[in-house]
Amino acid sequence: MTANQLIRPITTEEKEHLFIGGCDTVELAEKYGTPLYVIDEQTIRAVCRDYKRAFSKYENVRFMFASKALCTLATSQIIASEGFGFDVVSAGEIYTVYKAKTDMSKVLFNGNNKSQEELDLALKLGVGRISVDNFTELSMLDNADILLRITPGIECHTHEYIQTGHLDSKFGFDMSGIDEAVEIILKKNLRLHGLHAHIGSQIFETKVYSDEVEIVVDELVRLNKKFGLNLNEINLGGGLGVKYTEDDCPPSIDEIADVILSKLYKVIEKHKINPPLLILEPGRSIVSPAGATLYKIGASKQVPNGTKYVAVDGGMADNPRPSMYNSKYSAVIANKPFDLDSLQKVTIAGRFCESGDILIKNIELPNPQKNDILCVFNTGAYNFSMASNYNRVQKPAMVLVNNSQSDMIVKRETLDDLISHDRIVI
Ligand SMILES: *Cc1c(COP(=O)(O)O)cnc(C)c1O
Repeated sequence: MTANQLIRPITTEEKEHLFIGGCDTVELAEKYGTPLYVIDEQTIRAVCRDYKRAFSKYENVRFMFASKALCTLATSQIIASEGFGFDVVSAGEIYTVYKAKTDMSKVLFNGNNKSQEELDLALKLGVGRISVDNFTELSMLDNADILLRITPGIECHTHEYIQTGHLDSKFGFDMSGIDEAVEIILKKNLRLHGLHAHIGSQIFETKVYSDEVEIVVDELVRLNKKFGLNLNEINLGGGLGVKYTEDDCPPSIDEIADVILSKLYKVIEKHKINPPLLILEPGRSIVSPAGATLYKIGASKQVPNGTKYVAVDGGMADNPRPSMYNSKYSAVIANKPFDLDSLQKVTIAGRFCESGDILIKNIELPNPQKNDILCVFNTGAYNFSMASNYNRVQKPAMVLVNNSQSDMIVKRETLDDLISHDRIVI
């Protein structure tokens, strides 16, 4: 069992109240207000260590956390302290990991439409690798250490919007364009080190990773032979799934490691090559289970012979995933986690002006009442990072919990923050 297979942070305790990181979540809600993102430091570290342990028999491995899942100074520092580098996709993410004092040589800049300003910033701040995605970008770059992002043509069974490795994808060079890309690279001052692929997100199958290893290594070897190169880095991206509800059964990190490494040893043997540097870029699996969101329950409404709606003080602006991907979540009432006698089936509605702003459909909760605190689990990834100010609502604060201590790592926005970039012109 690895921490990506848990719905809740590893430090979760159900006493009279729900505790995370040794902190009473009801007190956290009182002290910092709601909605509140809670991040459990121990869970982030546990998953990082799961990855390191599971892949430890392969010496030449490097982990780069996909910052787009969660990018703050404090969480970046924690992840960096576990020895991880970062996969970044924008000037904002580059700047954040830089300000978190991470080793920039362990950072890879990825993305399908990087601007010249972003590329220049990456090179100026010493980003170790640029993953070149397309011909336009090749023409914009010079004097850089690069990987080539390729589209390996692997279909994985996840939401269409989070598939990335299939043939008709907006990301990467398709296999037929790679030779032409290498020819251009060889004419420029660009140091190509290897290949980069990423096949999707919230993946539960293991075989897709084994296919990916073979396609990427075969291609690396073919390029080395054809062009007399010495490419020795394969970056397989991220994508390992997490357990949002009891219906989700993601593989453990050990299972993924077994599948990837056993295939890698086979293709190394097949081609009689030195073991390449293996790079992995987990995002969701590192931070999702570490996060929970606390909301305060407000209005409720019983539709005659229909749904009972219970509204909370957040919703699609702090967690757009249910309305975007129809994602499911698990939750408990933090001030009465044990009260199982009075279970009712309810639908948790957000407070934003969209009928689609429903956080959880048909969940059993113990008689939810106004001012109860609802704790939604597995919100550490793609919640804060996808949050918006829709309806001109302030983004929530984030607190880090560990050893019964809580620290605010992102301040709640104020009303003045909301208008601070506005300019009056009449
Ligand atoms: C999004 C992304 C990741 C991380 O994916 P997760 O599903 O969050 O693990 C890794 N690499 C690349 C290139 C990505 O775009």
